Order: sequence, then structure tokens, then C-alpha cells
Amino acid sequence: FFFSFEGPEGAGKTSVLTAVLPEIEKIVAGPVLLTREPGGTPIAEAIRNILKSDESTGMDARTEALLFAAARRQHLQETILPALARKQTVVSDRYLDSSIAYQGYGRGLGYETVWDINQFATEGFMPDMTIYLDLPVEVGLARIQANRQDKIDRLDKEDIDFHKRVREGYLSLADRFSDRIKTINADQALDQVIADVIDSIKQYVEV
Ligand code: C5P
Ligand code: MG
Repeated sequence: FFFSFEGPEGAGKTSVLTAVLPEIEKIVAGPVLLTREPGGTPIAEAIRNILKSDESTGMDARTEALLFAAARRQHLQETILPALARKQTVVSDRYLDSSIAYQGYGRGLGYETVWDINQFATEGFMPDMTIYLDLPVEVGLARIQANRQDKIDRLDKEDIDFHKRVREGYLSLADRFSDRIKTINADQALDQVIADVIDSIKQYVEV
């Protein structure tokens, strides 16, 4: 299986992933490869470093979208597809939906533009199921203010409207791809979010 995890800032994606990984291994009865975007291979991690560097401030939105798509391509070819070929389950922290939400809606490039370059990048290869951790923008940002000094500087560059557009993007994806995307309410105690995610994966795998 190929699962992706999506969500905005402060959704708790990393904490949830760490907690559910051993459970997913039980459900699929085998080792799971946890990987992330942008990254997951040396080339894609190098692209990630460009995207996170000070030089990337003010980067053109299309350049940014192309770099995310390029990193995704390499990640798919070098990491995801070989693991799936070995019959390993792959869990990716972000995949194509992030680009639609962040570059398409957040940066305003639009759904179609970002979808098209990602079709080139992925040749249409999509996750079997996507877990989308949804929560109000204010709740996510407040969690980061409280817990993640390292993330605050980067977040300050983007206004709250940017994050609202990102969420709007995710919600419209969840609506459009309701068969693939499972929306989880992330505005709950972490234990409850984790339990809901495990339930969704169980349902998908065991049916
Ligand atoms: O660790 P996390 O996945 O939350 O951080 C990745 C960051 O990269 C996000 O906070 C988001 O701002 C940014 N991102 C982006 N466009 C993507 C994927 C991620 O702007 N397509
Ligand atoms: Mg994270």
C-alpha cells in the first residue's frame, strides 16, 4: 500500500505519524517505509534545502512549484516505487496534495496549473489512501506559537490568509477525491486523532 499524510501547519502530522507507524506495521503485517516530501532521497533532500534556505525568500511561485514537483519525481522513482515493487507499504509525510494546497491555493497558481506539472512529474501515480489532518487555521498556528520556536520565523513570512487558502485547498481536494482522501478531525486530543487514523487505515486494509 501507498499512504500519504497531509495537513496544514500545527495539525500534528509528525506526532501522529510517529505514533501510528507501528500500528500500520501490525495492520499490514510487515515493515513500513516512512518517508517525506520534499525529500526522501539525497537529490530531493538537496532540493528541500534550497526550498528551506534564506535564498528562497521571494522565490517565484512557479519556480517553487517546479522544485516541489522535481523533488516529488525523484522521490517517486528512487524511493516510493522501488519499495512498492518489493511489496513494502510506503507512508509519505506529504505528497501531491500538498502542492495543490500550498502552491495552487496558497500561492494562487490555481488547481489546474499545479495539477498539470505534477502529472508530468508523477505520470498520474497517486496514493491508495490519503489521511488529511484537518483543523482550523487559528488552532494550528496557535499550537506552533506554543511549541515550535524553530517554525515561527518561517511562518511569519506568510500571513493568515495564506494558511486559510491552504486549508480551503485541502478541503476542496477532500471533496473532489472523497474516495481517496480520508479527512480526520485534528482539532481533538492527540490520542483521539491517532485512534481515528488507525481506524481509517484498518478499514481500508481489511476490507
Ligand atoms: O514538516 P512539514 O511538512 O510541516 O513542513 C513542510 C513545510 O513546507 C510546510 O510547513 C509548508 O509550509 C511547506 N510546503 C510548501 N509546499 C509544499 C509542501 C510543503 O510550501 N508543496
Ligand atoms: Mg511536521
